[in-house]
Amino acid sequence: MDILHYINGTWHRSEQGDVRPVHNPATGELLGSFTSLSIEEVDHAVATATTAFRDWSNVPVTERIQYLFRLKTLLEENLQDLARTITMECGKTLAEAVGELRRGIENVETACAMPLLIQGYNNEDLTRGIDEHLFRQPLGVAAAITPFNFPAMIPLWFLPYALAAGNCFLLKPSEQVPMTAVKIFELLEQTKLPPGVAQLLHGEKEVAQALIQHPDVDAISFVGSSPAAHAVYREAAHYGKRVQCQGGAKNPVVVLPDADPTLTTSIIADSAFGCAGQRCLATSIVIAVGQAHQTFRETLAETARSRRVGYGLDAEVEMGPVITHHSRERIHQIVEKGVHSGATLCVDGRDKNVSGYAYGSFVFPTLLDDVSPHADISSTEIFGPVLSLIPAQTIDEAIDVINSMVHGNMACLFTSDGASARRFRREVKAGNIGINIGVAAPMSYYPFSGWKSSFLGDLHAQGRHAVEFYTQTKVVVERWYPEWNRKF
Ligand code: NAD
Repeated sequence: MDILHYINGTWHRSEQGDVRPVHNPATGELLGSFTSLSIEEVDHAVATATTAFRDWSNVPVTERIQYLFRLKTLLEENLQDLARTITMECGKTLAEAVGELRRGIENVETACAMPLLIQGYNNEDLTRGIDEHLFRQPLGVAAAITPFNFPAMIPLWFLPYALAAGNCFLLKPSEQVPMTAVKIFELLEQTKLPPGVAQLLHGEKEVAQALIQHPDVDAISFVGSSPAAHAVYREAAHYGKRVQCQGGAKNPVVVLPDADPTLTTSIIADSAFGCAGQRCLATSIVIAVGQAHQTFRETLAETARSRRVGYGLDAEVEMGPVITHHSRERIHQIVEKGVHSGATLCVDGRDKNVSGYAYGSFVFPTLLDDVSPHADISSTEIFGPVLSLIPAQTIDEAIDVINSMVHGNMACLFTSDGASARRFRREVKAGNIGINIGVAAPMSYYPFSGWKSSFLGDLHAQGRHAVEFYTQTKVVVERWYPEWNRKF
C-alpha cells in the first residue's frame, strides 16, 4: 500500500523525504510505506488549515456536527475493515481492535453534543445595569501527535471535539501505524468535510516538531512515552502553545485477601496481557496483601501459561505480538534485569515461537514474583505482557508503594470491602481509579485523567475537558443606558 498524506482535501505523495516501511508485527510482512513530509510541505498544510479556519469557524455548530454524524455512520459501516487494518499494523486481536474502535466512535458521539457542550454562561444585572456573558470560541489550528498502540481510538480522542468546536485539525499519527488513520481520513473525505479542515500528515518526530514550532498552530495534543511527552510539553510551552501531553504509565493493582479469586484473576490477566500489555492502562504490578499473595501467585501463573498467543486475525487467539522486534528485545532485557535484582521468574514468556509465524515479534505472558518496589523493574514502563507481583502486609503499605510511584495513570483495587474501596479511591495518587475493574478507562463523557508523570497540562482528552481545551473563553461585559431607549 502506498500510504499517502491528506492535505487540503487531496491525497498527496511526498517525493522528498525518507521512505518509511510499515510491517505486520505478527507475520513480518511489508504492508506499505510512506515518504515523510518535508518542512515546506508541513508549512503548506498549516497554511491551508489557517485559510480553511476562516470559513469553518463561521459554520454554525449545528451544521458542523452533521459531518460527525456522517462519520459515526461510516465508522460503524466500516468497522470490520478498520479493525482488520488495526490488527494487521498494530498486532492486537480482532476483538481488541473492535473494542478500540467502539471507544473511538463513542468520542464522535459525544462531540455531536457540541451545541450543548460549547454553551457559555451569563448573568443579567451582575451589578446594576451590567450584564456579563461568557462565550466559547475555537482556537484556530490544532494538531495531535499520537502513539502506535491505539491507532484509531487516540486520534478520535481529539479530532471530533476539535472539529465540532470549530477548529481545523492536523493529525500526525505514529509512523508505526499510519494505515488506520488513512482509512479514517478516507471516511472523513466521504463526509464532504471542506478542504483543509482535517488533514493527515505522516512522518516521524521531525514532522511533529515542525507542527509544534509552527507559529500558526495554536494547540498541541500529544500522547506517547513519558520522555517524549516531557520534551513536547517543554517545546510547545516555549513556542507559546496551548498543550496537553499524555505520557507513559506503570499501573498497579492491589488485591486484598477478600477479593474473589476467579473473577479477579481473569480481570487482572486481561488487563496485564490484553493488547500484549501495550496499553497505557495495562496492569503492570500486582500488590498482593497478606494471604492474597500466595493465592494469586498460583492463579495468575496458571492463567499466564494458558493464554493463547498468535496472529490476531486467527480465530481463538487471545494475545498478539508486541509492535517490533526491537520492542521484544527491550522487554527481554527488562525481564533479565528484574531477575538480576532478585525477582523470581514464575512464568517465562521469552524465546517462544508461534508456529507458522517465524517472523512475528511475540513475547508470551511473563510473571515475576517477589519483586521489590524499589527495583528498576517496578518503575520502568515495560509496555509488554509482563506482570510483577509485590507482596505487602497491609493496605497502608500497598497505598504507600503506589503513592511513591513516578507515574499516576491508573490504580485499581480488588476487594469486597466497601470501606477499603472508599479509602483507596480517596487516598491513592492516580487519576484513573478502578474498583474491581482491571482497565479503568473512562468513557468518552469523562476526561482521561492521568496524573503525575503520566500527564502534563491541565485539560485532559475526552468529554468536557476536550471542549475546554479546544475553545477559548471570551467574556463580554455589557451596559445599555436606559435613556438611549427613550426614542421608541
Ligand atoms: P512514542 O513517544 O515513541 O511516540 C508517540 C508519538 O510521538 C509518535 O507519533 C512519534 O512520532 C512522536 N514523537 C516521538 N518522539 C517525539 C519527540 N521528541 N517530539 C515530538 N514527537 C515525538 O510512543 P509510542 O511508542 O508510539 O507509544 C507508546 C507510549 O505511549 C507508551 O509509553 C504509552 O504508555 C504511551 N501512551 C500513553 C497514553 C496515555 O493516555 N497516557 C495512551 C496511549 C499510549
